[in-house]
Formats: sequence, C-alpha cells, structure tokens
Amino acid sequence: MLRDSFGRVATDLRVSLTDKCNLRCAYCMPPEGLEWLPNAQLLTADEVVRLVTIGVERLGITEVRYTGGEPLLRRELVDIVGRTTALGPGPQVSLTTNGIGLAKLAGPLAEAGLDRVNVSLDTLDREVFKRLAHRDRFGDVIAGLAAAEEAGLRPVKVNTVLMRGVNDHEAVSLLRWCLERGYELRFIEQMPLDAQHGWTREGMVTADEILASLSASFELTPDDLEERGSAPAERFLVDGGPARVGVIGSVTRPFCGSCDRVRLTADGQIRNCLFATEESDLKTALRAGASDDELAERWISAVSRKRAGHGIDDPSFLQPSRPMSAIGG
Ligand code: SAM
Repeated sequence: MLRDSFGRVATDLRVSLTDKCNLRCAYCMPPEGLEWLPNAQLLTADEVVRLVTIGVERLGITEVRYTGGEPLLRRELVDIVGRTTALGPGPQVSLTTNGIGLAKLAGPLAEAGLDRVNVSLDTLDREVFKRLAHRDRFGDVIAGLAAAEEAGLRPVKVNTVLMRGVNDHEAVSLLRWCLERGYELRFIEQMPLDAQHGWTREGMVTADEILASLSASFELTPDDLEERGSAPAERFLVDGGPARVGVIGSVTRPFCGSCDRVRLTADGQIRNCLFATEESDLKTALRAGASDDELAERWISAVSRKRAGHGIDDPSFLQPSRPMSAIGG
C-alpha cells in the first residue's frame, strides 16, 4: 500500500498524459504558452500503462484519473483508457478535460470503459471565455459536455475557477445552467500553481465568497459532512436536492489531512502532492530496466515522504517549480 508517515493511504492516482494544452486559461499559463516537454521525455502509452498497472495491481490504487495539460490531445488516449479499465481489480477511470474534442471522443471513450468526466468551464459568455482562455473555443466545450452526457459518462461534472473581476459574477448563472442540464458543478479556489506566478491571496475568490454568492439565490444544505471522506469538494444540496453543488476550498479550507491522491507526471515523475517540491523519477528507472518490484518500491518510498499539508499558509511556502499544467490537475 502507498502509506505515508501520517497514516494516509493513497488510492487515487492522477496521471498527466501531456503537459500541452490548447487553451491558455489565465490562472494556469501565459497567453504565449509554455516550453513543452520534448516528446522523448514523455512516457509512451506502454510505459503509462505499465506504471498504472503496478499502481493498481500491487499498490492499492482504486481510482485512475487521466489529466494534463489536455489529455484529449494525446492520440493514444482511448487505447490507454481501454487498457486501464481492463485491469484485474477494475479501477474507476475518469478524465479531467477542457472538453475540446470530446464531442468526437466521448463515444469511443465510453466504449473503452471510461466511467466519467470532469469538464472545465469557467463562463457561459463566449467573450469572457475568449478573454480568460485566449481561444475562441466556447462552442467546442459546450458540445463536448453534451456529448459526454449523451455517451453516459455520468455524472458529468463541471469544474469552474472564478477569477475576481473576470467571471466571478457568473457563479449563480453557471449553477443554474448546470442544474438545468443535470451536470454537477464544482467551484475550485484558484491555487498558486500558475506558470506566471501571478496568484495573489486577494485576487482569489474564496469558498466563503462563492457560498455567499450562491446562497443569495439558492438554499444550500451541507450534504455529506459525515461521508466526505477524502473528497476534495464540500458538497451542498441545492434547494433541498437531489441536485448538488461542490466547493473545493483548496487554499482556505484545506483537506490535506484526508488526502488520498498521488500523481504521475507525463514525464514519469511521482509527486506525492500538487505542491510538492520534490519528485521521484520512475521514468529513468523504468527505461534503465527496473523490475516492477523496484518501481513499486520507489513509488512506496515517494509516498512515504508526503508532508502533512500543502503549507500555503506557511511563511516559508514556495510555489512548486512546475505549473499545474505540467503536474496534472
Ligand atoms: N486541460 C484539462 C482541463 O482543463 O480540465 C485538465 C488539466 S487542468 C490543469 C485541470 C483542472 O485544473 C481544471 O479544472 C483547471 O480549471 C484547474 N486549474 C488549473 N490551474 C488552476 C489553478 N491555478 N487553481 C485552481 N485550479 C486550476
């Protein structure tokens, strides 16, 4: 098992399939993009599947989420998903995506056994989308969401990051829009993980602010205080339920004490936390011929060193050198 020194057990593996993205969301990367990882450094599909298999078959991973960058840009995605869902213990397999291209791929992904998707959508206004994401792709995202629902990748979850003065006036309309379509909306507090290092505490729209804004239009009742477990989202029934909304207060309401996540980057590094400043290199060992046992040992050791918390409030906090897009959100 992947147990750390505080007794937490990692069972939820986030795998980044590429650091490239076709959007440039302002809270994530600069409009000109970033210097992408060279292809030779990316794990091949076979390497990804080998490491995921070790995680699932030997180390107790029960959930695998493919992310990025933008995972739909990875040509072998359907194949990778199919080989993951075919693994013996049958992990839950999901995808976090910006939805561009999902209109075509939702069906094949569902056929490959994908359980569900989280689609990022920060606004319902095409002009705001262009300003925030620096690309005119609003229509593709909406089409991708509809295709996911149609393909049965349910519950379709929508991830929203609110930015002050940009889209923070849209919390209520986004929730209403999602409720009408049966999508489950989750607001995520903006974290200091942008490549530009532009995050400020004052600029962040907090969970308290989001809940205050929603509460002016909806009756919100805490849904799962008893059974939240390791889920990052605090969930609320909307107007008595059954529809729900989630708020992920990563910064102001950290949930590190119950974290069960571990990450594998597109270039084969294990990260035991989004905010980790150390990584453990599985790719070099794998390419040097390490056995499954040796790779598993390295992975166990990487998780054992996980810190108690992300430490954003600590005066010594240092933003990790990799941005969110290169870690895998
Ligand atoms: N490209 C995919 C997408 O858009 O969902 C997957 C990768 S993206 C890094 C995963 C999630 O991280 C998205 O929901 C995105 O909104 C969120 N995200 C990116 N940068 C963030 C930040 N600085 N703070 C909070 N969430 C962030």
